Amino acid sequence: MLQYCLVPLGCQMNLSDSERIRTVLESMGFERTDDESRADLLGIVACSVRQKAIDKVYARIHKWNQWKNRRALLTFISGCILPSDREKLLRRFDLLFTINELPQLPDMIRQYGVVTPLAGVPQQSSGEEGIPPPGIDDQSTGYWHIRPTYSSSFEAYVPIQNGCDKFCTFCAVPYTRGREVSRPSGEILAEVERLVQHGYRSITLLGQNVNSYGQDRNSQEIGFAELLRRIGQLGRRFEEPFWLYFTSPHPHDMSDEVIDVIAEYPCLAKQIHLPLQSGDDRVLIRMNRNYRVSRYHRVVEKIRATIPQATLFTDIIVGFSGETEEQFQNTVAAMRELRFNMAYVAMYSPRPGAASSRWADDVPHEEKRRRLHLLSDVLHETSGRYNRSLLGTRHTVLVEGTDRKPGYLSGRTEGRLIVRFAGDAVIEGSHAEVCITEAAPLSLTGELIGVRRPAAVGGTR
Ligand code: SF4
Repeated sequence: MLQYCLVPLGCQMNLSDSERIRTVLESMGFERTDDESRADLLGIVACSVRQKAIDKVYARIHKWNQWKNRRALLTFISGCILPSDREKLLRRFDLLFTINELPQLPDMIRQYGVVTPLAGVPQQSSGEEGIPPPGIDDQSTGYWHIRPTYSSSFEAYVPIQNGCDKFCTFCAVPYTRGREVSRPSGEILAEVERLVQHGYRSITLLGQNVNSYGQDRNSQEIGFAELLRRIGQLGRRFEEPFWLYFTSPHPHDMSDEVIDVIAEYPCLAKQIHLPLQSGDDRVLIRMNRNYRVSRYHRVVEKIRATIPQATLFTDIIVGFSGETEEQFQNTVAAMRELRFNMAYVAMYSPRPGAASSRWADDVPHEEKRRRLHLLSDVLHETSGRYNRSLLGTRHTVLVEGTDRKPGYLSGRTEGRLIVRFAGDAVIEGSHAEVCITEAAPLSLTGELIGVRRPAAVGGTR
């Protein structure tokens, strides 16, 4: 049996793409291995966002090409690849394809003379189970028809768009993945329904800019608020509870209607991840973020007024090109006022291909580190205060797995707060009722009260 090993790097979108690549390879008869040294086919789903990820790609292919002296091996690369890197990578890898070209992968592999036992026609999601045919029938949406080989039996990512039209100056995604293309809503709803039927508890809609969903289709597709509403209605038909998340939305496109719909339907999780990036208008302009800090505050006011229990997560970059101390202090002040439950703070590093990579990276590394620590302290203050307010309250927790502490499990509330509690690993993938007994800034500890076992849990395609 021929074996493949796939190495996904980078974000959730790449992980989601990997799940579809797996389906194609396994439909050809390849068997999965995580041991690179045993694989006949080695692939990377690359990330061009950070230099570290790019370095990993070159280190890996250097090693793999050395192995080729000893045995037959085929290598491929897909994912986020800058147009300017394509030629360099093609000299090192046997195959390079964009995710849109995934349906052609079996032909590409066969052109290398690789004989596989199966035909390599991936399962199609259209035409089965009453799923309506996709709204768009062009090549660019072809890979979404392929059912993913999900890596978890209770949480799943569902891509709803590919590419981005926003052109933030620090980001290369519009150049690596191209302009925004929305996936037909019929396909998205069918995939979500199938996951719920199979007992999935946590489903995340994925896109670079999820809440501009449908805008590329000139009124031929529903918008993001309507997509959420239809999923909310679907949720009401099922007895088994599930939480539907989405990431990442853009503050510019965050409408009141989206927030109202989240408030209305119980299955739409009361957690919002809304990247702020900076709390200073001049920095936001240089980042080409297309909103002001005051706009962000208005969106958060609306969220807090409409969904008071919602938790708020964000992304922030410190030390962006030209960021002064005064501008950074505006971010500190914004973080204090906005009281995030979680903030993923990154030190700025120029990303090859992004517009800002041509500008001076002029905030010294040590200064970036100081700014990062300062924001972490602010986060700990606000999240710690919030977490302490939960002491003695009961929460439903999705059990994700065992914790580092022996005998303990780890899970997340609907608001995606981490909760640890003593329990048996057999309840992984279930909803547990937990009473909060201890609160730290970024996690909670609790006591297990009861477990709601899933009616049907199992991997699906
Ligand atoms: S919204 Fe900005 S940061 Fe997000 S993918 Fe698009 S260009 Fe990149």
